[in-house]
Parts: sequence; C-alpha cells; structure tokens
Amino acid sequence: MVELKTEASIDAMYVAGQVVGRALTAVRQAADVGVSLLELDAVAREVLRAAGAGSPFLGYRPAFAPTPFPAVICASVNDAIVHGIPDGYRLRDGDLVSIDCGAQVDGWVGDSAISFVVGTPRAADLRLVETAERALAAGIGAAVPGNRIGDIAHAIGSVCRAAGYGVPDGFGGHGVGRRMHEDPPVPNEGRPGRGLPLRPGMVLAIEPMLIGGGGDGFHAAPDGWTLRTDDGSRAAHTEHTVAITEAGPRVLTARQAV
Ligand code: MG
Ligand code: MG
Repeated sequence: MVELKTEASIDAMYVAGQVVGRALTAVRQAADVGVSLLELDAVAREVLRAAGAGSPFLGYRPAFAPTPFPAVICASVNDAIVHGIPDGYRLRDGDLVSIDCGAQVDGWVGDSAISFVVGTPRAADLRLVETAERALAAGIGAAVPGNRIGDIAHAIGSVCRAAGYGVPDGFGGHGVGRRMHEDPPVPNEGRPGRGLPLRPGMVLAIEPMLIGGGGDGFHAAPDGWTLRTDDGSRAAHTEHTVAITEAGPRVLTARQAV
C-alpha cells in the first residue's frame, strides 16, 4: 500500500534528508587515498549523532541478508554496485566509491547516495559517474503528478542504456516514509505510461545503478550483502529522496555543493 504524506510530514522528512545530505558531504570531503571505509562510516556516524538522528541502516536485516547491517553507510568500491559493508579497506588512487546513507529524525527517514572518484580519476569513471547523475536527474524530472512509475523508470533506464551501461535488474528505488523501504518499488528500467500513477504526497527514493561494462549481470559477494558486477567492471549509484508535489519534484536530500 502506498502511503501519501501530508505537507507537514514532507517538511519533517526534509529535516531527515538534510542530515543525510550533510553526512554524505562530510564523507565525500573525508574520502581520500589511504582513508579506510570504517573511517568514512565513523564520519557519517558523527554527523548523525550530532543531529540526534538515528540510522535506518544500522542493524537493518532485509529478507535477503544473512546478518544485520553493521554500519550507517554502505561503501561500495569499484566493482561493488551497492550494499558494500565498510571495513578496513583503505582507498587507493583512482578508486570509484559509492556511498549510500540514511538518517531518521522524529521517525521520518531520508535516503541518498553519491558516487565519486578518489585521487586521480580515469576518464571512463568520470563518464560513468556523470551519467549516473544525469540518470538521477532524469528520474527526478519525471516524478511529477500525472506521470506514472514507469515514466520514472523509463527516464532512468534510457539515460543509462543510451550511454552503453548495464542496469542490474531487481534492485532500484522505493517509497520512503517512517520506514526506509515502503511501497511502491521504483525500477530503473520500464515502459513509459505504465504502472502506478504518481500523486502529490508520494515520497520516493529514486536510485539509478549503472554497470560500466555494459552487461547487466551481478552477484552477491560471500558476505551476503555486497552486490558486485559479474564482468568485474566498475559501477556507480546515485540516489535522492524525492517528494511528489503539485509544484513538481521536491528533493528532500539535496546537498550543498562541495
Ligand atoms: Mg540508499
Ligand atoms: Mg534507497
């Protein structure tokens, strides 16, 4: 069932979204060659703690997961697409990093992700990240009353495919509210004009995932969480929590530029 949020609830979700935005900005600023993924998790934990926010990631255990998630960010490096568990790995020059973070304030959740390169970037990685951002912007642009879920999915998938990238099937966006994962699912590929009609008050996490090598194949790593590309190519992941309003899409997890 899709829950429609009131304007007051969306304002409350914006507060949570801004905490996520600050956490991601802080993690990105801290990410450098030699910094470990656990250190990045600590940076995000401190932002959440200072804001009095909870973490919808910490202890989360969806049906597919063998263990509760042990961190407040997902840190997915190079061929990891999403759901990477922060560990002692120290970032190397040229690593492509995707960080996903959530925060919960007064019960309301914000969910957002960024991809970036540490140190000296490869041109191919910059193009992948730029395309992921463009796919996200296209998905957000389609998140307007009168459209349908399929219009968002089609907008995202079209950008990814036109650039020659793969799109992992079965993982994508979702409704957000008092729980991180609510109805409806928001796929990263679909047919325009199909699916649930978008209505003011719907709040969606829109989150393109792109596989640089162009294939769609992926698999879970032995930890049961991390999803890696089958071809070993690099992946990118971007995400915002977006409210659908009469005035257009409102990005609740918008960040300050760094
Ligand atoms: Mg997320
Ligand atoms: Mg999400």
